[in-house]
Amino acid sequence: MKRFIYTGNPSRIIFGSGRSAEVGAAVEALGCRRALVLSTPHQKAEAQALSQRLGSLSVGVFAGAVMHTPVDVTEAALKVVNDTEADCVVSLGGGSTTGLGKAIAYRTDLPQVVIPTTYAGSEVTPILGQTEGGRKTTVRNASILPEVVIYDPDLTLGLPVGMSVTSGLNAMAHAVEGLYAQDRNPVSTLMALDGLRAFRDSLPVLINNPRQAEARAEALYGAWLCGTVLGTVGMALHHKICHTLGGSFDTPHAETHAVMLPHTSAFNAEAARTELSAAADLFGGSIGGGLWDFAKSIGAPLSLKDFGLTEADLDRAAEIATENPYWNPRPIDRKSIRTLLQQAWEGVRPD
Ligand code: NAD
Repeated sequence: MKRFIYTGNPSRIIFGSGRSAEVGAAVEALGCRRALVLSTPHQKAEAQALSQRLGSLSVGVFAGAVMHTPVDVTEAALKVVNDTEADCVVSLGGGSTTGLGKAIAYRTDLPQVVIPTTYAGSEVTPILGQTEGGRKTTVRNASILPEVVIYDPDLTLGLPVGMSVTSGLNAMAHAVEGLYAQDRNPVSTLMALDGLRAFRDSLPVLINNPRQAEARAEALYGAWLCGTVLGTVGMALHHKICHTLGGSFDTPHAETHAVMLPHTSAFNAEAARTELSAAADLFGGSIGGGLWDFAKSIGAPLSLKDFGLTEADLDRAAEIATENPYWNPRPIDRKSIRTLLQQAWEGVRPD
């Protein structure tokens, strides 16, 4: 008999082409009337258009979201929340914008509506990573989980091909680690496998035709599934290494996940053979080599070297990533992690 605990994250998911038009109804259904729209500077025009669509339900736009949720940006946004007497936030964008909305919710308990435009998956997790004075800390709290997510694939039609590929592999990494998580359950496993399948089927279409509507919907559906897995079960070596590289060497978030995934999967392949077997079947029978071939075929970055890391950085990264013991299906030590990083740095196909 299987033994497991299943804890779902209570959020309302609205999925489908054109459904971002329902944002006003979503705000009103939360009992709110004064939404502050959030975005990065890059997506300010889209945020302003959304604010106009909200009409009298919007109190304006704060377009200052940046990567890693710096606390000073959150404080600037909180001042706008107070000045405008906003009663909810609407986050339009990728993980950086969602992060700002979560940081505001964590401090004020304001409800959030998130309209994701990448595949990062943050919108369905109760996790917030934020930075202050160069230090990144992570908190997990029920107030951080967005109440409503509107997945509208139309808003991802313009996501550049390169970002679609790396963001998709970022999402797939949540699913792969979810498959061997100690606290996995039958539902997280179903979601992880269908999330991987959705990206396997959609990303190859999108690299040739980024505006193909069905493939965009399939990829965004995969993002929901993979993000939900991230929000419900624990992650292991892969996420630890990516956080180390991003946090201490400032490597780009989604690209780092994309490079590392085949290598961390190969590292754990034998120790988690049973748990990974259905995923390996999706990628030609070998999880590490298969994911590397897939990543290469869709033009993903393959080498840490390309991010400006030196071999001396790898020594330090192996040290940091193994500083605190944490669970992984295959036990880790500094030497084996250093070898793994070397392979990812060189960009060779893992065995
Ligand atoms: P991002 O949000 O930083 O976006 C990168 C850039 O792409 C931004 O300038 C953004 O405005 C732009 N962009 C987004 N969507 C676009 C679109 N459709 N078309 C054109 N440009 C678009 O990137 P990301 O990878 O989505 O998010 C990364 C951040 O999210 C990291 O800080 C990471 O730590 C965090 N994250 C958190 C969690 C969590 O559960 N807490 C999960 C995943 C990621």
